Amino acid sequence: MSVSGLCEFCMQNEVVDGCDRCGRLVCERHYDKKTGFCTDCLKEMGQSPEENDTQHRKPDDVDTYRF
Ligand SMILES: [Zn+2]
Ligand SMILES: [Zn+2]
Repeated sequence: MSVSGLCEFCMQNEVVDGCDRCGRLVCERHYDKKTGFCTDCLKEMGQSPEENDTQHRKPDDVDTYRF
């Protein structure tokens, strides 16, 4: 079984997989292979990088900060 068609988010890129959470078919840009979820679900679960501001590191940890 292969998926084909256009991403349901951007309608521009080819579908690579379906989201394990909402089932939408999304392109590589809108799919997170680590979790198997689409970017929209990731956002809802608070895992988008922009929302990680709540987890500020202590100044002491600056030296060891790695992205
Ligand atoms: Zn897309
Ligand atoms: Zn989803």
